[in-house]
Amino acid sequence: MDGATVLSEGARVLLHDLRGTPPLTRAQVGDRTGWSRGTVNARLDELIGAGLLRECGLVEGARGRPAVLFSINPDAGDLLVGHIGASGAQLARCDLTGGILARESVALDVGAGPEVVLGLLEERFAVLRADVERPLWGVAVGLPGPVHFPTGRVVSPPIMTGWDGFDVPGRLGATFEVPVHVENDANAMAWGERCLAPEPGPDDLLFVKVGTGVGAGIVANGRILRGAQGAAGDLGHTFVDAGEDGPPPLCRCGKSACLEAYAGGWAIARDLGDLGDGRPRTALDVVALLRAGDARAIQRVRAAGRVLGVGLAQAVSLLNPSEIVVGGPLAAAGGEHLLAGIRQHVAARSLPLATQDLRIRVTRHGDDVGPVGLADALAARLFEPDTLARVLSRGTGGLVPAAPVGG
Ligand SMILES: [Zn+2]
Repeated sequence: MDGATVLSEGARVLLHDLRGTPPLTRAQVGDRTGWSRGTVNARLDELIGAGLLRECGLVEGARGRPAVLFSINPDAGDLLVGHIGASGAQLARCDLTGGILARESVALDVGAGPEVVLGLLEERFAVLRADVERPLWGVAVGLPGPVHFPTGRVVSPPIMTGWDGFDVPGRLGATFEVPVHVENDANAMAWGERCLAPEPGPDDLLFVKVGTGVGAGIVANGRILRGAQGAAGDLGHTFVDAGEDGPPPLCRCGKSACLEAYAGGWAIARDLGDLGDGRPRTALDVVALLRAGDARAIQRVRAAGRVLGVGLAQAVSLLNPSEIVVGGPLAAAGGEHLLAGIRQHVAARSLPLATQDLRIRVTRHGDDVGPVGLADALAARLFEPDTLARVLSRGTGGLVPAAPVGG
């Protein structure tokens, strides 16, 4: 394929180091790398010549002479990201620093299976990339189920019919001929929340997505916490004692008394009854009721917030986050109603040391939080020196298994 770039190993290492740092001068690059002035100049020239680095301003240098600042050229390539929920997806085309250049929301049913959903994704991605000449570097997908991180395969998703074990990177990698990163949706949102926070972002953050189901993404010590099998943060299927009389509700996963059987959008819809003509309500119907100010729906969502608070109190004791951020469609429509119960029960059930500086709030970034997190996690993997060599040679090889992300 045309446009292949071959970089020296040193230039790839420098490009990797420049991701995630503020712009640097030649002297600062020398200080960080220990390289001679000649080597620094040669590698900077190599990266500038390849269009991967750019001059981005001047600072006062030694002896009062202005020094040129260098940063990664965000326009050297494109990233495509698709943040998929149970009933809709946010798609975006991003630059190499994760800045969103174009976005689109689409309705879909994740239960229709991977062929249908990924087919739609491919179609919409092609539209987002129409008339774009710069090269595509990578694709990232967020999915509402546990993702086995080394392989990018979905594992035993409770609600995603047909997705178990499906090779998402294989399918999209064959279509787009670039590396593909797959992430649990709540993990992507947690990471996006940290990326979008004022510098420095919180190192310990719990993101709770409340949509059709309930999921959590955990950032601990500045990294996404995925767990041994990619199942960390499966808050929706933790057991809660909601303090109610009668038998506990049955969950979609087959167990009973799961948190989302009380607090997920599907459970709220179940309790609000059908639409009057026998058709069952969905989480999207609950969102519409909240937007219309329906008193019954608001009351039911406040009750969901209290059960979320019971579950989150356990998580706060285990993880001691500095922030709990709530997002997803139900939080967007009725966040304050959810927060009231969460605040009440977290404060009552966690130790004061864990809650004294704990902030609990709704995300301020709306639908962008998932796509931004996906783009940054993808870029972190693409800028690994070995992966860079493949990306720049337009190689179609996959990502390095278990490459560190988010640090
Ligand atoms: Zn369950």
